[in-house]
Amino acid sequence: MNRARPFDLVILGGGCAGLSLAYRLAQHDNAPRTLIIDPRVEYTNDRTWCGWPVTAHPFQDDVRARWHALTLHTDQASTTIESRRYPYEMLEAERFYTRTLTAIDDHPSMARVQARAADVEDREDGVTVALDNGETVQARFGVDTRPQPKPLTSPWLWQDFAGINVQADEMPQHAELMDFRVGDNPQAGIDFLYVLPYAPNQALFEWTRFGRPPTSPTTLERALEEYLDTRFGAGTWQALRRETGTLPMAPPTRTNGRSMVVTGAYGGSMRAATGYAFHAIQRWADECAEALLKGQPPVGASTGRILPHLDRIFMSTLARHPERAPEFYRLLFDKAPTDSLIRFLSGVPSVSDTLSVMNALPWAPLIESTLRCVLPGRA
Ligand SMILES: Cc1cc2nc3c(=O)[nH]c(=O)nc-3n(C[C@H](O)[C@H](O)[C@H](O)COP(=O)(O)OP(=O)(O)OC[C@H]3O[C@@H](n4cnc5c(N)ncnc54)[C@H](O)[C@@H]3O)c2cc1C
Repeated sequence: MNRARPFDLVILGGGCAGLSLAYRLAQHDNAPRTLIIDPRVEYTNDRTWCGWPVTAHPFQDDVRARWHALTLHTDQASTTIESRRYPYEMLEAERFYTRTLTAIDDHPSMARVQARAADVEDREDGVTVALDNGETVQARFGVDTRPQPKPLTSPWLWQDFAGINVQADEMPQHAELMDFRVGDNPQAGIDFLYVLPYAPNQALFEWTRFGRPPTSPTTLERALEEYLDTRFGAGTWQALRRETGTLPMAPPTRTNGRSMVVTGAYGGSMRAATGYAFHAIQRWADECAEALLKGQPPVGASTGRILPHLDRIFMSTLARHPERAPEFYRLLFDKAPTDSLIRFLSGVPSVSDTLSVMNALPWAPLIESTLRCVLPGRA
């Protein structure tokens, strides 16, 4: 495709958000003339996306496994929640990349370039993007999904994790969303284990930490390996695949420009209090594709008005009382109606879902956090 001619749309970053949008556009003959810019040399199975499909998405056939029941363990008790309506689902990035890239590469109006967007000029009448290969491209509109790591301030935390797809005998039978029995120093961070058995002798084990400053994923990977040695016996389990991540549990730091919208995990699609982004990205991609196919400008991710405030209060409470994190999550599992809790965690609660989730938590620390959030300099 001739890249000297201006495009209708340029997408900076061909990861989950960029490819989700482009995939939807690629289903239409009248798709806008689109260029995706990404420096990746190859697409590998670099992450596993999990969450609840509270809204439909086009990757149902790529779901590797689903669980209707999820357990939470603390030192005091174990609780299991069950939902027939919203099974927790797991997608492997590899299948998503294959499906989206095939559709995009087959479409005559869509192209990809392997390069890094180095400089962006965002004007009322269009965007100009300078690439690190010396090229310059023009487009009427832009969608920027590039990660934007920034230092985090109080009360926001980093979510660091190291995951291993393990093969071993005697795998757990049930999915465990949070096992707080592994952490022994809440001041270092809130630690929990996440276990998703997806085959008779295979499961994804992930050691997660909420804390600030971020913890090196290597530290967590070592903690996970030691845990697996203790659980299965050294030398009796096999690592099939590994993944690590560092996600900001914080609101987006950048806002939309004139002809460029900022979106993706760092642009408002990631829920600050959970780190879930995949399903919110799918909802955004539906809305954005619909607008573009009607000839309208792209839309950014919507974070809602209430949830960012509630996330701030919850994160402030966690930051001040890390030792009480297992209790807070257990109360949510025990007391909130399961489907309300799932919609709340997924970022699409009704008013009554929000009230029932709030009602499950102890009021005193939340009220204290609310006061701290509204009084300047106290969060
Ligand atoms: C290991 C891992 C596991 C995760 N698991 C879950 C999960 O279970 N559930 C969930 O909801 N969320 C999960 N997330 C969070 C989130 O869903 C993912 O990070 C998701 O990939 C975010 O999509 P994105 O498009 O915003 O970013 P990415 O998918 O990271 O895409 C950003 C793209 O931008 C490109 N890029 C970077 N710099 C430039 C540049 N200068 N110019 C052009 N392109 C550039 C990158 O190469 C990349 O392809 C996980 C994240 C990680 C890292």
